[in-house]
Amino acid sequence: MSSNPSNITAIVGAQWGDEGKGKITDFFAGESDFVVRFHGGNNAGHTVIVDGNTYKLHLIPSGVVYGEPMSIIGNGVVVDPKALLDEIAYLKNKGVNPNLMVSDRAHAIMPYHIAMDGALSGHQGDLAAGSTRRGIAPVYADKMFRNGIRMIDLLEPDVFREKLEKGYSFAKGIIEKTLCQSLDISLEEIFNTYLNHGQKLKPYIQDTSVELYKAHKSGKSILFEGAQGISLDVDHGVYPFTTSSNTAAGHISTGTGVSFRDINRIIGVVKAYLSRVGESPLPSEIQGDEADDLREKGGEYGTTTGRPRRVGWLDLVQVRQAVRVNGLTEIALTKLDVLNGFEKLPVCVAYDVDGEQINEMPASLTQYRKAKAVYETLPGWGDLADNVWDQGFDALPETLKDYISFIEQEVACPVKIVSVGPQRHETIIR
Ligand code: GDP
Repeated sequence: MSSNPSNITAIVGAQWGDEGKGKITDFFAGESDFVVRFHGGNNAGHTVIVDGNTYKLHLIPSGVVYGEPMSIIGNGVVVDPKALLDEIAYLKNKGVNPNLMVSDRAHAIMPYHIAMDGALSGHQGDLAAGSTRRGIAPVYADKMFRNGIRMIDLLEPDVFREKLEKGYSFAKGIIEKTLCQSLDISLEEIFNTYLNHGQKLKPYIQDTSVELYKAHKSGKSILFEGAQGISLDVDHGVYPFTTSSNTAAGHISTGTGVSFRDINRIIGVVKAYLSRVGESPLPSEIQGDEADDLREKGGEYGTTTGRPRRVGWLDLVQVRQAVRVNGLTEIALTKLDVLNGFEKLPVCVAYDVDGEQINEMPASLTQYRKAKAVYETLPGWGDLADNVWDQGFDALPETLKDYISFIEQEVACPVKIVSVGPQRHETIIR
C-alpha cells in the first residue's frame, strides 16, 4: 500500500447519479487503506461484486467488502442507526466482519424524520424533489435548526434525552399541526430503542477526522466515495430537484474533517449519455424508439423500483459545471458500449433560452425550464470488438477517440479512464 502522504483520491458523480461510480470505486477501493463516505445517507446504493459474491450497500462505503480497508462514515453523512445495524448484520451474514468507523459527529436519523419525510410528500407539488422517504431531508434540516442528534449523543443518556425532547416536540408539531398527519411513536419508545442501538454501535463510533488525519500523516491511501451527482448537489445542482446534501468534492472537507488542501486526485464519473430518476426539466432528454433503445441497452431501470429511468444525450453544459465545481483532475467515461450501433451521436454543448445561447448551468428555474439543448452531432463507431479493452486506447475506433477528444475539449478536462462494459476488466486506463 502507498507510502505517499498525499495519496488521497475522490470519486464523484458528474451528472445525475447512476453514472457507474460503483465500478470505478471498485477499481480503487481494494487498494486503498481507507474508504470514506462524506455526504448523504442510506438513500445511495452501490452494488459491488467481489469474487463472484454480490453485495448491495446503501450506507457503508464499498471498500468494506474487501476486508482490509477501513471503511469510514464521515460526519457529513446522516446515519439511520437501525439501517446501519441492518447493513452490518447483512454483511456479517455474508461472512464479512465490517472494518468500520462512524463519525461521532454524524447526525442520526430518528423515526420522526422518516415520518416527516412521508408526510412531506404531497406538499411540494411540481417542485417535489422525489424523496426516497428515508428521512434524509428532515435530518439535514434539523442539523441546521440545531435540533439534531449526533451519534455520540446515543452514548450519553442525559444529553440524548435533553436533545430528543427538543427534536421530538419540534418534529411532532410540524408533522401533526402543519402536515396534518399523526406521529405514532412516543418519545419514550425512541429513547429506549435508540439508546440500545447506540450501545450496539458504540465500538464503531469514533472521532474519524482525527483517525483520517493520522492516516494521512502516516502515508496511508484514502479514497473518498461520492454518492449521487453534481446536478443533485443542494447548492450547485438544479435546486430544488436535488438531494439534501452537497455531492460536490468540496464537501469532503467539511463532511469528514480532512483538509481540501490534501486531496490531490478528483475523478468525475461521466456516463456517455444521460439518465435521470425523478422530476425536473432535462434539456437533452429523448423520447420514443431511440430512448427505448438506449434505456434497454444501458439497463436504465431503477435498482429497487424497476421503474424505467428518463434518458437523454450527453449534456456537456452539466459536465462543464462538474469539472469546474469539483475541480476534477480527470474524467472516467463509462458505458460507452451502450452507444454501440448508434449511427449519429448528438451531444448537448449549450442551451438555447429564448434564442440566446448559454454555456453554463443557469440558476434561474425559468431559464432552465425553457432551455433547449443545442447539439453537435458526431458520428457513431458501430460495434466495438469483443476484447477491445485488451488492446489499449490507441486501438479504439477513430470515431470513438474523436468522441472522447470532443468531450475533453468542450469541458477542459482529460478523460483518463474509459469503461466499455460492466465488468472490472472492461476498462481502459490511459
Ligand atoms: P452509481 O450509482 O454511479 O454507483 O452507478 P452504478 O455503479 O450502480 O452503475 C450503474 C450500472 O452500470 C451498474 O449496473 C454497472 O454494472 C453498470 N456499468 C458501469 N460501467 C459500465 C459500462 O462501462 N458499461 C456497461 N454496459 N455497464 C456499466
